[in-house]
Amino acid sequence: MVDPDRYRPDPCPQCEAKRPLRAPGFYCRTLVDVGFEGSIRVRRYLCRSCRRTVSLLPEFALPYLRFGVSVIAAFLVARLLEGRRLVAAALAATQPHMPYQRGQFWVRRFRGQAEALGAALAAKLTPLPAANFVARALLMLQSLGWVTAHRFRFSQLRVHLLGWPRFLAPHGRPATLPSAGPP
Ligand SMILES: [Zn+2]
Repeated sequence: MVDPDRYRPDPCPQCEAKRPLRAPGFYCRTLVDVGFEGSIRVRRYLCRSCRRTVSLLPEFALPYLRFGVSVIAAFLVARLLEGRRLVAAALAATQPHMPYQRGQFWVRRFRGQAEALGAALAAKLTPLPAANFVARALLMLQSLGWVTAHRFRFSQLRVHLLGWPRFLAPHGRPATLPSAGPP
């Protein structure tokens, strides 16, 4: 069993209270990624100050989405960068039977995030010339690596690559950068 202190967030990423988070246990969630489909165990921490939980997802999993970063990345690149049709993009994402609404949902969310994402990733690499914000963000993600970008956006800023759905918005704190701590 992995030591709960090893990856314990410090401080709480949601309220930045200095009290140590409790590690009451795990929950299971399903994850579909390229070459993997099944259940993963996720450690959950509880902040005694703000009473919110912090889940320690593996870095290829996106909060609240069942599909892993690499599946969504392959779909969005095929659909929005290469201009492939929904069916072909689903195939590129190794999900040939997925409902087309799911892909449309990813596209819609990504479009809504693209401009802010491109601007944020400019901290990591020189913005690439592109026809529009969506293409630019995708090129930058491809260049930096999606998992690296997700880790950078999420671990420090609690920003979701595809944006937070409205019902989770309070957990996605879009603004303040906590002072740089150890990685
Ligand atoms: Zn807290």
